[in-house]
Amino acid sequence: MTTDTAAQAAYVVAALLFILSLAGLSQHKTSRSGVVWGIAGMVVALAATVGLASRSITASGLVLIVVATALGAGIGLWRARVVEMTGMPELIAIMHSLVGLAAAFVGWNGYLDVDAELSGSLLGIHHAEVFIGVFIGAVTFTGSVVAYLKLSARINSRPLTLPGKHVLNIGALVAFVGLTVAFVVRPGMGLLIAVTVIALALGAHLVASIGGGDMPVVVSMLNSYSGWAAAASGFLLANNLLIVTGALVGSSGAYLSYIMCKAMNRSFISVIAGGFGTPAAAADDDEHGEHREINAEETAELLRDATSVIITPGYGMAVAQAQYPVAELARKLRDRGVEVRFGIHPVAGRLPGHMNVLLAEANVPYDIVLEMDEINDDFAATSVVLVIGANDTVNPAATDNPSSPIAGMPVLHVWEAANVIVFKRSMAAGYAGVQNPLFFRENTQMLFGDARQRVEDILRGLDSLDAPVREMAGTSR
Ligand code: NDP
Repeated sequence: MTTDTAAQAAYVVAALLFILSLAGLSQHKTSRSGVVWGIAGMVVALAATVGLASRSITASGLVLIVVATALGAGIGLWRARVVEMTGMPELIAIMHSLVGLAAAFVGWNGYLDVDAELSGSLLGIHHAEVFIGVFIGAVTFTGSVVAYLKLSARINSRPLTLPGKHVLNIGALVAFVGLTVAFVVRPGMGLLIAVTVIALALGAHLVASIGGGDMPVVVSMLNSYSGWAAAASGFLLANNLLIVTGALVGSSGAYLSYIMCKAMNRSFISVIAGGFGTPAAAADDDEHGEHREINAEETAELLRDATSVIITPGYGMAVAQAQYPVAELARKLRDRGVEVRFGIHPVAGRLPGHMNVLLAEANVPYDIVLEMDEINDDFAATSVVLVIGANDTVNPAATDNPSSPIAGMPVLHVWEAANVIVFKRSMAAGYAGVQNPLFFRENTQMLFGDARQRVEDILRGLDSLDAPVREMAGTSR
């Protein structure tokens, strides 16, 4: 068997491992094995690629590949070990930017180093691949960098609203199509530079003009773009595995974007065109009235007397790492016979499935963790709702106020419960930058402070409420 045949066979094995990985990652119980399949696929793919390359490169070239692989693997391992769960979205965004950059470089390399054997229509196809690869790669690169800056709060998450922004976007796409035709007919460096600049600007503008509330769709959309960028590189490098893997990432990212849009009641086209998320200052400036406060001891008393409790966690639970005491609180209340369930909004936190991962980490049983649609009708019959570091996902303005930037987004109907306790540190707005009228409702009380500390205080409060009961039981024996 030649090296080439062996490598192609290894590519088929790697592609199958990637498909198994995706299947595994689609469910809680199999997600760990999904990660292992993915790692195995990547090892096989890398070994086959290095094996293929080693046929035609010098010893120093091989040393360079080994050094680059070791360096990349080292940086990857280090980042993966130190990243906090709250920092995952920006890590993913910056990784997407690297895929985009690599695709743009591969495209440029394809232009500078054309295979001398190519001629006629094959040469035309090659030029089209170069142009499309550079375009998708550059859009992905700057789009991901801006997403990284927004997600890590290095720039404001409010949408950029340049005059005629849709015309700018459409103009860039039309220019891309026209330049592609020109490049295929008469390739030249000027055209490639022009498309690179247009794509870099388009990527930055597309993501900058998307509002905070729509960022979940952007993250999954850039995931999809990075897949198509990799597939474009696969065509240029005639690498079947890169084409298959790119298509897998591209299509699964596109499907995830569709699911997120459905969860947020958004039109996919409108989100990627930056049509939503324009700030509605009027909504923020509304006079909401006074809020009421509660302390941990009073909350413990309320919970002691409750018959049913729903916990709706959000990004603040991840920041405070409050999932462990929250899980302990749920266990304690259930031991007392209180019905406890979790209500999870599809875009709570900063990653799809963010809350589910945290609760699974703290060993909360899956059967009490319900999706928004499964629990939304039950709030009206609930004694106490604990909103732990959630804000946008429990904002009634989404249903009541058509001028709100998050209008139309389905939210958890927490306000229908008898009592709502909101855990947060201040009256600050959530990720979408919108004030939350929930905080001013009559049945809502604010429990200020770090969510982890406040939940721990409540646990102590419940213990001290139990203490006299235990003492009395002891003396009567
Ligand atoms: P939000 O981001 O709306 O609000 C989180 C709240 O947590 C803040 O108001 C903050 O208030 C509070 N908080 C922060 N730290 C702490 C702490 N240590 N203790 C207690 N409270 C804390 O969260 P949601 O989960 O409700 O909504 C998610 C938002 O993020 C949505 O707008 C969504 O569109 C967006 N998004 C989601 C992504 C996803 O894939 N899930 C990706 C990107 C964006 P305070 O500062 O006063 O404490």
